[in-house]
Amino acid sequence: MGMTKRIVLLGAPGVGKGTQAKQLEDRFGWVHISTGDMLREAIRSGTELGKKASQYVEKGELVPDDLIIAMIEKQFQNGKCASGFILDGFPRTEVQAKKLDELLSRQGAPLDAVVSIEVPEEEIIRRLSQRLTCKEGHVFPEDSEHKPGDPCPTCGAPLSRRKDDAPETVRRRLEVYKQQTQSLIAYYRAQKILKPVDGVGSYETIFNRILEVLGIASGSV
Ligand code: AMP
Repeated sequence: MGMTKRIVLLGAPGVGKGTQAKQLEDRFGWVHISTGDMLREAIRSGTELGKKASQYVEKGELVPDDLIIAMIEKQFQNGKCASGFILDGFPRTEVQAKKLDELLSRQGAPLDAVVSIEVPEEEIIRRLSQRLTCKEGHVFPEDSEHKPGDPCPTCGAPLSRRKDDAPETVRRRLEVYKQQTQSLIAYYRAQKILKPVDGVGSYETIFNRILEVLGIASGSV
C-alpha cells in the first residue's frame, strides 16, 4: 500500500531541493511541484504568466505572491496531489505559507512535514557557480564529462547554465532568501512540523537523512 505524504522542501537556492524532490517522486509517487520549473516553462513557452514573471526571475527577485498562488491553486485543483506531494520552492513568503495552510485545511489534508535542507553559504555559491541543468531540472556539475550543450545524462535534453546562476544574481537570490523566506523556518517550527536536515554530502546520503526524518525506513517502499 502506498503511503501519502504532504511535504514542503525548504532551503536556500542550491541546497538540492529539486534533486531530492525528484528522488522522492520516483520512489513514492508523490507529485513534485516546483514553482521555479513551472515559471521557467511558462517563460520558455511565452505564456501570459511567463511574460509577467520573466523580469523577476531574471533578476533573482520573487515573483508577486498573487501570480504564484494562482499557479499553485491550479495544481491542487487537478486532483493529482491527493496521493501526496512535495513542494519545492514554494512557499517562499509568509503570505504564501498562510495561503497554503488555508488551502490544505480546506481539504482536510494538512502538511505532514517541512524538511529544511541546510547548506553553508560558501558551499551553495560553489555549487551554483558550476551547476548545469536541463529543462526537466536534472542537475550536474560542469566538469570534464558535462559541458553546456551536452545531452542530459538522465533525459537527453540539452544541458545549460541557468541565467540566474550568474554570480551577481546568486548573491541577490541568497539575500532574497534571507529577507523573505528564511523566517518560514520559525513559522513551521512553531507548527511543530519542521525537520532540519544537513544538506552536505552525496545526494544518496541526504536522501537517507530525509527518509529518516520522515520516519521511513530506507529499505521500505
Ligand atoms: P527556483 O528554481 O526555485 O530557484 O526559482 C527560480 C526563480 O523563480 C526564483 O528566483 C523566483 O524568481 C521565482 N520563484 C520560484 N518560486 C517562487 C515563489 N514561490 N515565489 C516567488 N517567486 C518564485
